[in-house]
Amino acid sequence: MSETSSRVAIVTGASGGIGAAVAERLAGDGFAVVVNYAGSAGAAEALVRRIDKTGGRAVAAQADVSDPAAVARMFETAETDFGGVDVLVNNAGIMGLATIAESNDALFDRHIAVNLKGTFNTLREAARRLRSGGRIVNISSSVTTLLQPTYGVYAATKAAVEAMTSVLTKELRGRNITVNAIAPGPTATKLFLDGKPQELIDRLAKAAPLERLGQPDDIAAAVSFLAGPDGAWVNGQTIRANGGIV
Ligand code: NAP
Repeated sequence: MSETSSRVAIVTGASGGIGAAVAERLAGDGFAVVVNYAGSAGAAEALVRRIDKTGGRAVAAQADVSDPAAVARMFETAETDFGGVDVLVNNAGIMGLATIAESNDALFDRHIAVNLKGTFNTLREAARRLRSGGRIVNISSSVTTLLQPTYGVYAATKAAVEAMTSVLTKELRGRNITVNAIAPGPTATKLFLDGKPQELIDRLAKAAPLERLGQPDDIAAAVSFLAGPDGAWVNGQTIRANGGIV
């Protein structure tokens, strides 16, 4: 039996992309997993069935992370179904690209609501509820260092996530809970691929010295490290998992 067999992880935005890979990986590591989604119920349920089939434990939980009441209900689901929460992976996120001159209020407000308020909502619940030995992993982005044109609003929300990572680390002193962020580079998911011409995808894939796009499993491996026994001494860090792009 795995060392983490009775531990419980909530993964936000786990119906697809990086979050789905993280949920599957943590289930394989022995965690009971709450598979959070906003709209993609079918994909979340299919993932839960996949995890069940391989002997893992998972439950799907609908919650728009921008809604504090829905987030509180999701933590209650975890506590009711699995007895508590040990790991929070803040993965849910959106990305819309536009120059600052061309960004409208709706784009700005939605990024703040999902990427920033959504992360705040789950961090607040986690800070109140996580058991001793807990781990929090926030998914940021390497754009906080790359800072390319058109990423202004998105990068600003992720920089804020990194700031909250550092602050919460200190606020949880004495609780034996680590708080870290992972900053992926270009990763082959809908969020990255949708709307980009193949030529741009190919160019971005070659930009890292490892000359390929990240895969969701690459990021899941880094989360698994931070959530598992080997990551115990890493605290308050933002780790760039990006093939060396920056
Ligand atoms: P993705 O394939 O678009 O998946 C996003 C996931 O987030 C979906 O499961 C979606 O669920 C969920 N989601 C969106 N809004 C939500 C909300 N309000 N409440 C709850 N769930 C919500 O994106 P991804 O590439 O895997 O991105 C995952 C994270 O990695 C994001 O934080 C992103 O910023 C970050 N990231 C990605 C890249 C990249 O290149 N892909 C690079 C750096 C960082 P529904 O379908 O159910 O709405």
